[in-house]
Amino acid sequence: MKRIAVVEDEIFMREELLDLLHKAGYQADGISDFEDVAGQVLGLSPDLALLDLNLPGASGFQVCRELKQKSAVPVLVLTSRDQLRDELHALDLGADEYLTKPCRKERLLARVANVLKRYEGRQNLMEGPGFLLDRQTYTLYIHGNSAILPKNQGKILEVFLTHGEEAVPKEELYMAIWGTMEYIDENALQVNLTRLKKTMANLNMRLQVVPVRGVGYRLVPEPGQG
Ligand code: CA
Repeated sequence: MKRIAVVEDEIFMREELLDLLHKAGYQADGISDFEDVAGQVLGLSPDLALLDLNLPGASGFQVCRELKQKSAVPVLVLTSRDQLRDELHALDLGADEYLTKPCRKERLLARVANVLKRYEGRQNLMEGPGFLLDRQTYTLYIHGNSAILPKNQGKILEVFLTHGEEAVPKEELYMAIWGTMEYIDENALQVNLTRLKKTMANLNMRLQVVPVRGVGYRLVPEPGQG
């Protein structure tokens, strides 16, 4: 059953939405405390977030931005704000759909189903600069092609992607590859990093692994790639 997180501060409206979604066969959960909304939504691991824009505390725009930075969850904005600039701003922040209130039930359910369908099979995909990585199969989708990475390389790349361009401690890489930090010497890690670098070069990914003294490594775009 698909899970939908409902972010709506008007209680009556929220109850109505939850009821509508339940009846349509979804598992729907509402947020009733508007502190750290994005964190709460992500805590529910939903397949879709239904998001109001005018909220107490952080605005729906901020929540949308945070959700999109931290996850691949689709966001459907449902708001009384009917200005085009609000819609464009929300879409710019990564919102997948924008609907204005009042909205017919049929229309809302159709859009929900549509967004869910678009994301079908994408739950395992992580986004890197210019490519996608399936964290289950370590299939890399790039430049309209796909390649399956050897397991260790896939694990390393997955860890790098969860850190963005921040440094990844060596220990975290050891744990990801071998599940332990014991009896592992740095050469073994080096060998795997070298293989990954070679793979990335062959696939023309334009990324570099750079050492960070005393910490570990970072994955960054090649100079000139911004
Ligand atoms: Ca509201």
